[in-house]
Amino acid sequence: MREDLEELKQRISLLEYLQRRNWTARRVGSRQEFVGFCPLHAENRPSFYVNARKNLFYCHGCERGGDLIRFVELSEHLSFRESLAYLKQHMAAPAEPELLDQTAAFYQLQFHRYPEAIEYLQQRGLRDPVLIEELAVGYAPGGNLRRHLVDRGYSFDLLLRTGLINSQGRDAFCRRVIFPCRQQGRAVNLYGRSIGVAFPHRLLPRSKGDLFAWESVGAFPTVILVEGLFDLAVLWQAGFRNTTCAIGTHLTPAQLSQLGDQPGRRIYIAFDQDPNQAGQQASRLLAQRLESAGLKACIVALPPGHDPNSYFMAGATAADFLNCLQQAQSL
Ligand SMILES: [Zn+2]
Repeated sequence: MREDLEELKQRISLLEYLQRRNWTARRVGSRQEFVGFCPLHAENRPSFYVNARKNLFYCHGCERGGDLIRFVELSEHLSFRESLAYLKQHMAAPAEPELLDQTAAFYQLQFHRYPEAIEYLQQRGLRDPVLIEELAVGYAPGGNLRRHLVDRGYSFDLLLRTGLINSQGRDAFCRRVIFPCRQQGRAVNLYGRSIGVAFPHRLLPRSKGDLFAWESVGAFPTVILVEGLFDLAVLWQAGFRNTTCAIGTHLTPAQLSQLGDQPGRRIYIAFDQDPNQAGQQASRLLAQRLESAGLKACIVALPPGHDPNSYFMAGATAADFLNCLQQAQSL
């Protein structure tokens, strides 16, 4: 029981647990401390603090604090024992680290069997077979994941809870090109880009994890941040291996602190140039946050209507993009 408890606490970070429940926070003071609105009481000034390293929270408003289990007791109104069971059940996915790896590997095998997937990648300008292999790009033709995983001993229930299949047992990622999001070599989430009429973007209902490929990108003193994985893929293909991606314009507090893990780092924000200015606005907000965290942020202006992916598709070269980087403006 005691060992169980320690293992559970180590496996699930309080910060990640809160983020999965859409808690938004900003970093304060030291790198590991975050503050946001208290999920336990109504308030109009953020007074809920989380120390990510110690895995502890404290709210100055309702004066309650403790560890993850204490948080579940308070937020779900459960006893200690019930909270443990709750965490085990609801966070079952991390207990099955191989599940996402197996899914990613399965989809990667499918990829080569379905010409529509390969065609879609070519359409988006991703041609380098070595890079496609490195990114472990996969494809979900739909309808066959469940059988594959159930044969390997995973329960229908777990697959459903993880969000890999729907209640009819069909692949939730049906007709999507899949990019596994990996940390320390393990898949922590899957991103699926629809090649048909379905909503373009899909992630599993769990943390996005680290910035994409941060283990390699984090070593660079200069980093290019893009919105989408196809932006990242074409930039990597063009030689800009210092490109990372948060899948969208919103960075989690943990991802923000990754950008700040090297003092003086310069970050080029290359978001979409949207007609409604959404990408541009997100760039400015993010640049302000980064600057106030002591980083150097520059906003890369691409031709109107373009994102890095479409820019390359329209014929831009690595030299053209480099030119955009050189002309990038700080705030
Ligand atoms: Zn509170």
